[in-house]
Amino acid sequence: MASKAPQAYEVDVNELDGTPEQQAYMKDIIDQFTIDTDYLKQVRDHFMVEMKKGLDKEGSTVAMIPSYVEGRLTGKEEGHFLALDLGGTNLRVVLVTLEGQGKFKTVSSKSRVSEELKMGPMRNLCDYIAECVDTFLTEQGLEDQEIELNLGYTFSFPVLQTKINRGVLSTWTKGFACSGAVGKDPVLLLQDALLRKHVPVKVSALVNDTVGTLLSNAYNKPATLAGLILGTGANGAYIEKMKNIGKWKGGKTTSDEMIINMEFGAFDNERRILPLTRFDNKLDRESINPHAQLYEKMISGMYLGEITRNVLTDMIDRELLLKREENTSFAWSKEISRHWSFETAFMSNIEADNSKDFAYTKEILDTNLSLHDITTTEAKFIKKICELVGKRAARLAACSIAAIVQHCGAAEEGCDIGIDGSLYEFYPSFEDRMYEALSELMPEISDIRKTIRLGLAKDGSGVGAALTACVAARMENARASA
Ligand code: ADP
Ligand code: MG
Repeated sequence: MASKAPQAYEVDVNELDGTPEQQAYMKDIIDQFTIDTDYLKQVRDHFMVEMKKGLDKEGSTVAMIPSYVEGRLTGKEEGHFLALDLGGTNLRVVLVTLEGQGKFKTVSSKSRVSEELKMGPMRNLCDYIAECVDTFLTEQGLEDQEIELNLGYTFSFPVLQTKINRGVLSTWTKGFACSGAVGKDPVLLLQDALLRKHVPVKVSALVNDTVGTLLSNAYNKPATLAGLILGTGANGAYIEKMKNIGKWKGGKTTSDEMIINMEFGAFDNERRILPLTRFDNKLDRESINPHAQLYEKMISGMYLGEITRNVLTDMIDRELLLKREENTSFAWSKEISRHWSFETAFMSNIEADNSKDFAYTKEILDTNLSLHDITTTEAKFIKKICELVGKRAARLAACSIAAIVQHCGAAEEGCDIGIDGSLYEFYPSFEDRMYEALSELMPEISDIRKTIRLGLAKDGSGVGAALTACVAARMENARASA
């Protein structure tokens, strides 16, 4: 499935009117945010260098973490598997029935994780999770299973993985702060709780969401090479040959390939190649993690609105936007001055605007940011700025795909790339702009859409986690019979 996003309507540069000062400013902004083909190629090339570094050496900027998921899917995988997703506010338990031939069914239940559980002892949280799994199995009539069900655990916190079902929590994020968990293995803690309650479930895989996305795409598209997340954050995973993982010290594997969780949001934290503007620098400086995740900060949903807001406030400060002669009524609100007030979803709506005199853009700014009586000239500027930031994100994101494809030598044969995340799914023309950049990066490919096939791979944390559990079971069988 391609992304479901509508089309973006771009603002023609010749349509931008305004004073000479405004026009000069816009020209400069357009220059700063436009990345030409040659520059894209340089970014892609540097990305490939950094991938190699990460494969060779621990502690590299692009971490290239081996996922311990060995080999590929056949699409013939069958059986019942459980998936568990502990991330933000909800805990999701999913029963995935793999039916073979790339088909599957899912049933799931969602429950809230209270603030008390998020801050209390880890044992309480694990007991709660075990209870939710138990209740779910009872509802599904699976409580008296003869054999244990395999469970894939999507645990979306920084974990240093040591096996497919072993890892160590380095730190909590996203509002969790349970005691007795950092430095411990989340799999063992959960398994103990399941044992205490006699729940017949084996936690057989610890899953990163990019790896889950790759696998959920691969189940019915066997030529899948990579999985990407373009949502709140940005990251990717791809299938690598064991012989290329120079830093591997994990001994013999059951396959000559393994999925690598790239952690590519950190690409170019050294600022060697990314075309950072003063607006990106401001965002980085004011973020909770300055100097980290610089690539992610240019391409993912959490940040695009804020970059746009930084340009708008700069224009306001220079009296090039929302300047009104009558000082009785400010045309602009306090909203626009507040960090993060300009959501990436507003950009989506503005980019999709095809109304006469930009009426819809004006309405969005009015309703969401109390920016009243925006002129048509101003609406055009704002729409153009959204377009520049959104397009730059899509083009830079495409560099990661081109780097993976070229690193793996997959351009000739072609491949599928599964992508999950609201930015890719909902941002107008994001996918089209990625394709456009890809064809500039790989001019030798005559039909880019048929060769590098991007597609929405939803629910990596459900189906993907279940598939990871399935691969884990297969690996265990292979080891037992070796
Ligand atoms: P997560 O990455 O947390 O799993 P999502 O993939 O849903 O969740 O991504 C959420 C992010 O996507 C939000 O932070 C927001 O920035 C962005 N987003 C949400 N809706 C839209 C939209 N309509 N257009 C563009 N970006 C959006
Ligand atoms: Mg997600």
